[in-house]
Amino acid sequence: MRLLMLGPPGSGKGTHGVRLAEEYGIVHISSGDVLRKAIADDTPLGRKLAGYVARGDLVPDDVLFELLIPIMEQAVTETGGFIADGFPRTLKQAERAYREIGIDRHLKLDAVVSLDVPDDVLVRRMLDRAQQQGRADDTVEVIQHRLAVYCAETYPLIDYFRQRGVLVPVDGNQPPDEVYAHIKDALGQRVTK
Ligand code: AMP
Repeated sequence: MRLLMLGPPGSGKGTHGVRLAEEYGIVHISSGDVLRKAIADDTPLGRKLAGYVARGDLVPDDVLFELLIPIMEQAVTETGGFIADGFPRTLKQAERAYREIGIDRHLKLDAVVSLDVPDDVLVRRMLDRAQQQGRADDTVEVIQHRLAVYCAETYPLIDYFRQRGVLVPVDGNQPPDEVYAHIKDALGQRVTK
């Protein structure tokens, strides 16, 4: 099974993506986590990307594809699937991913779970997360910038995936167990491992 979790920062895509991956025995691939690890490891690439992530700006596509494609391929070889979280997140990335990952590598997405949560709830959740996890990009200014980037760059993907017939919309503004149950229910009708 190959899934994408789509939603604004703070929508719960990471939490639910990890849980789904555990349940289905496949790999959760968070582009943000992959980038934060490269930065924490202080690799030459990581040093190049640190500024983008700290500001909440999108990192260049070439670097992202170079980092993520091997991880996706390995996940499929080892476990039969993946749950992508945070990638693709622009129309340009989605179109390129469709060609280079979907068609060339026969790894098209089976479903895209889209979590919808109002902005004020998102900001509150991210500020809570900042206190718990100490993420450097969870400050009020950067959070607001990340939300603006989401609206401009990622939001159009909802229509893109709806038109491709793979969108699974879920109301993310409910208690986590209820959101998870809705995701499972909606996916159960569409995909088998
Ligand atoms: P996230 O953990 O998904 O909120 O991502 C944290 C940061 O990593 C983002 O604010 C971007 O700087 C960078 N990032 C993650 N995924 C992508 C992507 N698909 N394209 C460009 N930049 C990304």
